Amino acid sequence: MLYKDFLKNLDKCPFCDGGNNRHLLKTETAYLTYALAPYHKHHLLIVPFRHEEIILGLTDKEVLDMDFLQEEALKIFKKLGYKNMSVLEREGDNTSKSIPHLHNHVIPEVRIGDLDHNGNERRVMSESEIKDVVDEIFSVL
Ligand SMILES: [Zn+2]
Repeated sequence: MLYKDFLKNLDKCPFCDGGNNRHLLKTETAYLTYALAPYHKHHLLIVPFRHEEIILGLTDKEVLDMDFLQEEALKIFKKLGYKNMSVLEREGDNTSKSIPHLHNHVIPEVRIGDLDHNGNERRVMSESEIKDVVDEIFSVL
């Protein structure tokens, strides 16, 4: 089944519902599991038990527990012989392209694609584009 079809057929949150029997490790507030639609065969996920959709909505305890599980996932990958890992904290969203329950991806030696989020070939920004981005960020600091 394609991941996009899996997402279309969801009738409940798989991290709230199905996560219980897929724990590799767990703490009081979060668990480590494997991705059902992985980018890499050893693609792991860290998920808070509580259904939270935004990073800033995590409690201090959830942040600590997720950091602990991230360390454990990285140690597992080292033991499996990987040298490089990537971590991506993913908020739930309403684009139907991800599970709407915050989760962290921990992936060994994954090649992040050549395409940007719009599906276009990635390119290096021009000096004026860099200035615009930096100005925009400083405008909200
Ligand atoms: Zn959920």
